[in-house]
Amino acid sequence: MREPTTVPSAPAAAWERLEAALTGTLLLPGSAAYESARHPARLQPVDQRPVGIVRAADGADVAAAIAFGREHGVATVPRSGGHCYAGRSSTSGLLVDVTPMDRIEVADGRVTVGAGVRLGPLYDTLEPHGRTVPMGTCPTVGVAGHVLGGGLGFLGRAHGLASDRLVAAEVVLADGRLVWCDEAHDADLLWALRGSGGGQFGVVTSLVLETVPTPATTSAFHLTWPYEHAAAVIGAWQAWAPQAPDEVVPELRLVVPGDRRTAPEVSLFGMVLDADAQATTGLLANILDAVEAEPTWVFHEQGPYLPAVRRLNLLGSDLPPGAVPTDLKAGRSEFFRQALPSPAVSALVERLLTDRMPGYARECTFFAWGGAYDRVPVDATAFAHREESFLLDVTTVADDPTPQVRSAAQTWLAGTWDVLHPWGAGGAYTNFPAPGLEDWAAAYHGTNLARLRAVKRRYDPGDWFRFPQSVAPAEA
Ligand SMILES: Cc1cc2nc3c(=O)[nH]c(=O)nc-3n(C[C@H](O)[C@H](O)[C@H](O)COP(=O)(O)OP(=O)(O)OC[C@H]3O[C@@H](n4cnc5c(N)ncnc54)[C@H](O)[C@@H]3O)c2cc1C
Repeated sequence: MREPTTVPSAPAAAWERLEAALTGTLLLPGSAAYESARHPARLQPVDQRPVGIVRAADGADVAAAIAFGREHGVATVPRSGGHCYAGRSSTSGLLVDVTPMDRIEVADGRVTVGAGVRLGPLYDTLEPHGRTVPMGTCPTVGVAGHVLGGGLGFLGRAHGLASDRLVAAEVVLADGRLVWCDEAHDADLLWALRGSGGGQFGVVTSLVLETVPTPATTSAFHLTWPYEHAAAVIGAWQAWAPQAPDEVVPELRLVVPGDRRTAPEVSLFGMVLDADAQATTGLLANILDAVEAEPTWVFHEQGPYLPAVRRLNLLGSDLPPGAVPTDLKAGRSEFFRQALPSPAVSALVERLLTDRMPGYARECTFFAWGGAYDRVPVDATAFAHREESFLLDVTTVADDPTPQVRSAAQTWLAGTWDVLHPWGAGGAYTNFPAPGLEDWAAAYHGTNLARLRAVKRRYDPGDWFRFPQSVAPAEA
C-alpha cells in the first residue's frame, strides 16, 4: 500500500515566500482561522493537523502550493466540500482548500463552477433558469469532490451521474502546469476525471457541466414502517424498484439506533419526476399491498422539484460549513446485479439487530440503479459501474466514537459484509470509499483500471497526488 508523503515542515522564510506569492491566504497552526479551517465536514478516522492551509483563490495559488510542497517534500492535498468519508481530503501535509474559488456562471445550457462551489448554491443559482444538474442532495457537499467521484441523486436514473455531465475542467497538474481538458484537448484526462474519484490526477480549479431541464413537477414520498416489516419492505422494493421507469426514484433505508430506547425502522422515500399525484398514489398503494402492513408515517406531496429535494434531505443529517463535526461515519458499498434471495434478506435484517450497543447507529440504504446510469458504456468514462441493478450502502454512524465503539463498529461492518458480499457484483462506489476494502482498485475501477493507470502515468508520473487507495501510474 502506498502511503501519502508527509514531512513535518519547512523553514519560516519559505512559508513567508509562499504567503507573499498567494492571492488567497495561508493559514498556519496557532491561529483561530487555521483551527476553524482545518476541520473537514465529517469527523475523520484520524484527526490530522495540516502543516499549513492554502486557501487558494485561483490556479496560480494552487500551483504555488504544489511547488512549495514539492520543494519541501510536503504532500499537497486538495479539499473542496470536505465530505470524504475516508479522510482523503485531510492531511498532515499542506492542505489546498479550494473553497474561495466559488464563482458560478450559467450560459448556453452549461454551468461553469469554481472548484469551491457546494451543491446547495449550485442548485439555487440554476433554479431561476429552469435548469439543474443531476447530483446528490446534501447542500454542503463540494461539487468538485462529488463530480470527480460520480455523483448519484434523484435525477440519476433519468439523466445519469453528475460525472456524466462533466464536459470540461481546468486542472493544475503535479508539475504546476495549468491545463484545460475537454473532448478536444487532453481528452484522456477529462475521461479520467469523469468518475474515478478526486485527488489523484491534479487539483481541479473549475468544472463545466451540462445542465438538464428541472422536472416540471414532482411527487415526493416517504413511508416508514416498524422494523419488524423490514424483510417485507425489502422484498417489495426488490421486486419493483430496480426495474421501475427512469422517472421513479425509490430509496430504501433500514435504521437501527444504538440506543435501545429508540425503535429501529425501515423507510421508503424518493420521488416520481414529472408525475401526477394520482399516479403516485396508485403506485404507493401497490407497495402497501405488497408489504401487507400499515406504515406508521406516510408523506406524499406534489410540488416543484427543488423544494422536494430539500424536504427529502431532512432524512439525512448535515452540518453548516465551519461547524466542527462530532459523529464518525464508516461504511461499505457494493453494486448488485441480482436480487438478494430471501435467506440473505433475513440474514441482513437480523444482522442489523445483532450486538447493538450504545454509541453508534447502523444504517443500510438501497439505491435503485439502472436507467441512464446503465445506458453509458462502461469504457465511455472512468466510472465503471454500468451494468448494475442496485447499490447497497451499509454504514455505522458513531456519535460517541470512543476506541471501543470504533472497534465494535468495524467488526460489525466486516461481519455484515460477509452476509452481503456473496451476492454482490464486486464493484464499490468511488464516492463511498471504504479504507478496509480488499482488492479496492478492481472494486472501484473494474475494467477501466488499466486505462486509468496509463492516464496517471501521463499526467502524474511521479505519483505526487496519492493516498492509500489512489490509482498508481502504469509501469514504464
Ligand atoms: C452528508 C453526506 C451526503 C452525501 N450525499 C451524497 C449523495 O447524495 N450522492 C452521492 O453520490 N454522494 C453523496 N455523498 C458522498 C460525496 O459525494 C463524497 O463524499 C464526495 O467526494 C464529497 O465531495 P467534497 O468535495 O465534499 O469532499 P472532499 O472531502 O473535499 O473531497 C473528496 C475527494 O476529492 C478530492 N478533491 C476535492 N477537491 C478537489 C479538487 N478541486 N481537485 C481534485 N480533487 C479534489 C479530495 O482530495 C478527496 O480525495 C455524501 C456525503 C456526505 C458526507
